[in-house]
Amino acid sequence: MSVRTRADLEQLPPYVAGRTVPGSIKLASNEVSEGPLPTAVAAINEAAGQVHRYPDMGVSALTDALAEHYGVAPERIAVGCGSVALCEQLVQATCSASDEVVFPWRSFEAYPIITQVVGAQQVRVPLTEAHALDLEAMLAAITPATRLMFVCTPNNPTGTLLRAAELNAFLDRVPPEVLVVLDEAYFEFVDDPDAPDGVEIAKARENVVSMRTFSKAYGLAGLRVGYAIAPPKVAEALRKVSIPFSVNALAQTAAIASLHSPEELRRRCADVISERARVRAKLVELGYRVPETQSNFVWLPLGSRTPAFNEHCLENKVVVRAFGEEGARVTIGTAEENDRFLAAAESFRG
Ligand code: PMP
Repeated sequence: MSVRTRADLEQLPPYVAGRTVPGSIKLASNEVSEGPLPTAVAAINEAAGQVHRYPDMGVSALTDALAEHYGVAPERIAVGCGSVALCEQLVQATCSASDEVVFPWRSFEAYPIITQVVGAQQVRVPLTEAHALDLEAMLAAITPATRLMFVCTPNNPTGTLLRAAELNAFLDRVPPEVLVVLDEAYFEFVDDPDAPDGVEIAKARENVVSMRTFSKAYGLAGLRVGYAIAPPKVAEALRKVSIPFSVNALAQTAAIASLHSPEELRRRCADVISERARVRAKLVELGYRVPETQSNFVWLPLGSRTPAFNEHCLENKVVVRAFGEEGARVTIGTAEENDRFLAAAESFRG
């Protein structure tokens, strides 16, 4: 006899993280190359001497800061160990074994893994030809067993954005007992005037959650902190299924400091947005197909040429993120990093 793990986990593919290769630049995980905001670094340094104490389990100061920032009641907020933890908590809080979670595919890789780990059923809805979410097909995928839907906008890895009007029209047609999670991990990089603001939508609707993170624009990926603005009942359930003390003390402190530095944030997002336009324009000029992106990455749907492209970038000391034979996702870095990537893209003859 030996110990037994769940048989269904044997088939489960692991989450694949972007690789760090010494001597190469990493454009594989949608991080910001600039680092954390300076105010956050100062706050982390100051808090470091207190890490022998457990963090505030209720994450009260950060919750209050978020409540004030967004003009919502603290009861509507749940903070998690990265928004990926909140994704899992959302499935835990809403689904039993036979319940279904509907999500676009391809999209954030954690959705299928988390759904399977929790033990619920996954329903993947293919993207449109234009690499965007297919809202009609997502509506058609709803069954009486559907409890949760992930709507990722801008979508990872394709960068495509839903417009406010189409999202609202979609939400009008989702049954009220289905919880819709607007995964807005890349919200701060959006500059389209027709973009939805998920927080405002979550305030107005009883079955919508807006989920955001400090990992991307705020540059705190290593500290693990994300948050959800949700109906009070959902936020309460999220807190209940959370592991105690899962949001560490430095993360809480750094997130508060970051929230209080809107000008630093705005400046860095403006830099990413202008570099994004430059990178995309150059790629298009080189003959690549690149969907419009509202995120801090571009998607190259290279199909069977993807592995060769990935290898070529690695040889040129640029780490990108390849998805099988579908495509490669490349994070927008500093101007210098982007130039290195563009040079690799230009010399690719796959
Ligand atoms: N949602 C999306 C769409 C993402 O791309 C990511 C990170 N890659 C996350 C959520 C999770 O981010 P974190 O756990 O770092 O907050």
